[in-house]
Amino acid sequence: MPLRTPILAGNWKMHLGPSDTEAFFEAFLARHPERADGTVIFFPPSLSLAAALRAAAGRSDVRFGVQNLYHEPAGAFTGEVSAPIARDAGAEFALVGHSERRHVFGETVPETARKTRAALEADLLPILCVGETLVERRDGRAHAVVTDQLAGVLDGLPQADIGALLIAYEPVWAIGTGETASPQDAADMHHHIRTDLVRRVGDEAAAKIPILYGGSVKPDNAAELLGADQVDGVLVGGASLKPHDFAAICAAAY
Ligand code: PEP
Repeated sequence: MPLRTPILAGNWKMHLGPSDTEAFFEAFLARHPERADGTVIFFPPSLSLAAALRAAAGRSDVRFGVQNLYHEPAGAFTGEVSAPIARDAGAEFALVGHSERRHVFGETVPETARKTRAALEADLLPILCVGETLVERRDGRAHAVVTDQLAGVLDGLPQADIGALLIAYEPVWAIGTGETASPQDAADMHHHIRTDLVRRVGDEAAAKIPILYGGSVKPDNAAELLGADQVDGVLVGGASLKPHDFAAICAAAY
């Protein structure tokens, strides 16, 4: 994948079943012409992945991932989906450490680390989500929290694996709230993350790791967030459910 060309990712969370997925792509693909210099990645619910792949067949700029996975490759784990199964079903990416996994489902940093390794072993590219809560930001701990979240996952990984990751900075207070980090706040945290990556893998490899911003990205704020320094793309929740809005966000990247 050409890295650090704009990456526009849509996390559908628990929305859009297979029939709504078909309708979404009919509307979205009509508004988002194929481009060689950018990638759109959708994270539908697992049960809608097959419908999404069918609906976007032939569009090499549109790719897919899973919102979550279990770290074991197979076994008696009722209700879970493994990385090899997700890969076999057509996923190329996996969200790991999304704030809803951490804060709604109580996912710990070691669990996020295990999921990241499981994804890499199955040839899925992880998008590692990090971000501070409002209290942590107000206490002046935003950088430290993100540093710890990165360390909890990256400390155990070989450099080549770190180089395969994508990172998403998603301040928890901006997710689904209508609040957005300012472009300056986003650029500041993205610099912080890039510096951490440089220390781990060196300048050249760190420069290739896409860092996305996520948190209430909408058509009317996408251009300025995508224009912020070190912001290589966006991870969009709510607005990615609306074909017109998400196409407008994608258009803002060019
Ligand atoms: C998300 O779910 O990753 C997200 C950023 O959601 P929203 O755009 O709705 O804030």
